[in-house]
Amino acid sequence: MRVLVGGGTGFVGTALTQLLRSRGHKVTHVSRRGGRNRISWEELSRSGLPVCDAVVNLAGQNVLNPLRRWSDSFCREIISSRVDTTRTLAKAIAAAEHPPRAWVLVTGVGYYRPSPIAEYTEESPGGNFDFFSRLVSSWEDAALIYGSPTRGVVVRSGVVLGRGGGAISQMIWPFRLGLGGPLGSGLQPFPWIHIRDLCGIVCHALEKENVRGILNGVSPSSSGTSNGAFARELAAALGRPALLPVPAWAVRAVFGEERAVMLLKGQKVLPKRTLESGYRFIFPELAAALRDIVA
Ligand code: NDP
Repeated sequence: MRVLVGGGTGFVGTALTQLLRSRGHKVTHVSRRGGRNRISWEELSRSGLPVCDAVVNLAGQNVLNPLRRWSDSFCREIISSRVDTTRTLAKAIAAAEHPPRAWVLVTGVGYYRPSPIAEYTEESPGGNFDFFSRLVSSWEDAALIYGSPTRGVVVRSGVVLGRGGGAISQMIWPFRLGLGGPLGSGLQPFPWIHIRDLCGIVCHALEKENVRGILNGVSPSSSGTSNGAFARELAAALGRPALLPVPAWAVRAVFGEERAVMLLKGQKVLPKRTLESGYRFIFPELAAALRDIVA
């Protein structure tokens, strides 16, 4: 299969590209930077979709960059890097003479309202209560192509755990030094997925002709994982203590009130449709997932 991947140069994209190539697929990235096997977003808008069998979008400005202040211009960048790239790909698919068979978008579980109790499946309501939920709604709306023969799948991902990027790379050093700990109360749910499973679900969605609609991209056991439990497991995988909680005020001071919600609150999410679609998780349990990453 020839697969076009927007944002394919990033943390998830690099792992997805490796997986797809190992399965015999050909991958081209859409990127802001030139390079081999890449096209630019301008080229895509100007010349239309290159011949391909499937399209994925992973593009998005990193939300949790602590060096970027939470400001209106940063929020606009967060939105446009996701919604505009998704719309550009959707338009190109809609206009293609030979439309691809599959179109997969990765969004986030921020669609569901944070709660220590509620459990959410793909059918649960959400998408209209705060900045992140509204972001996911506009992002997913931008992917819709009415009357298209192309099969559409949206994977709502939890926190992606993997080597060399994402959440783990941001927190590993304090933990290695024995200075890690839960964020805030540590009681908030921590919806997580191993990067190999997120890439596995995207690949499953591309290859299985009967998969369509929303799939939750979280491990099946993640609804029982709190932020505190995650901190303890990460410390255990590193053979270090995790005694020092990071107070909520400090998280708010670094990230800003609105963005700190992502760290101080969480959702219990179940991958109901993902499992029903036949996907089998490689890392359903946190301890094994973390051992694989930090070993
Ligand atoms: P990365 O931070 O690695 O970024 C992915 C790619 O997005 C980059 O390689 C870059 O490609 C492109 N990009 C970055 N900023 C912009 C911008 N301002 N405009 C256009 N493109 C931009 O993301 P991940 O791989 O971690 O995540 C992939 C997707 O999954 C993202 O949309 C993210 O929101 C979503 N997601 C990720 C989670 C996680 O824990 N990592 C959790 C839930 C959802 P280039 O430089 O080549 O243009």
